[in-house]
Amino acid sequence: MKLIIGYLYGDLMNIYGDTGNIIALQKRAEWRGIDIEIKYISIKNKLKKGDADIFFFGGGQDQAQSIVAIDLVKSDKGKVISQEIERGVPLLSICGGYQLLGDYYKPHEGPKLEGIGLFPAYTIAGDIRMIGNIVVESMFGKLVGFENHSGKTYLNKNAIPLGMVIKGFGNNGEDKLEGCIYKNAIGCYMHGSLLPKNPKLADWLLKKALEVKYKKKIELKLLDDTLELQAQSSTVKRFG
Ligand code: GLN
Repeated sequence: MKLIIGYLYGDLMNIYGDTGNIIALQKRAEWRGIDIEIKYISIKNKLKKGDADIFFFGGGQDQAQSIVAIDLVKSDKGKVISQEIERGVPLLSICGGYQLLGDYYKPHEGPKLEGIGLFPAYTIAGDIRMIGNIVVESMFGKLVGFENHSGKTYLNKNAIPLGMVIKGFGNNGEDKLEGCIYKNAIGCYMHGSLLPKNPKLADWLLKKALEVKYKKKIELKLLDDTLELQAQSSTVKRFG
């Protein structure tokens, strides 16, 4: 079997080690004999149905976000991404990427950046930067990461959060919610990078991608996650 990871705007949106999520997906697939191709999808690239089996969209500074926001709408990539999510293709987006997949992101300077409306949520730049380790309780159990954002994301009433904040700020530092999940698409503020220390979430993305692509139930071979879970529990112990 083979999976194509669509790396969205990796040349512009890749701060705080988010590329580590691509590496984690690639290794956890290859350790199971699943071939991986990484497809870089940025400003100059077109996107059509079936081009990617999983999407990854990392974090970025306001300046990069303003360039990407325009391209998402102008190039129709935003529309294609939404259509792919509707048919169940999984996606992980972190921070700046997450913000652009909501309704809009209003940065400190300059105009509001229209999002693609995938997540029923909106983001407004706050006065403080929310920085530090974060621990979240979710359907994947505990998730740990590192956040660094001034954007405060508020979920609309029909939105489903990824989880509840145990330690850290989460979406906005106010309602104790972190991230958003819609179908098999996840947005969150957990840099780190996220997936190496949260193997359950990494495997959920791989499983969903395989099931959508091959149209059958998939049980992934178990891996020895001793190190991954030691890394996760040490963060929970220190900060959770
Ligand atoms: N520029 C956005 C903010 O500060 C996103 C930053 C990020 O991706 N870490 O909220």
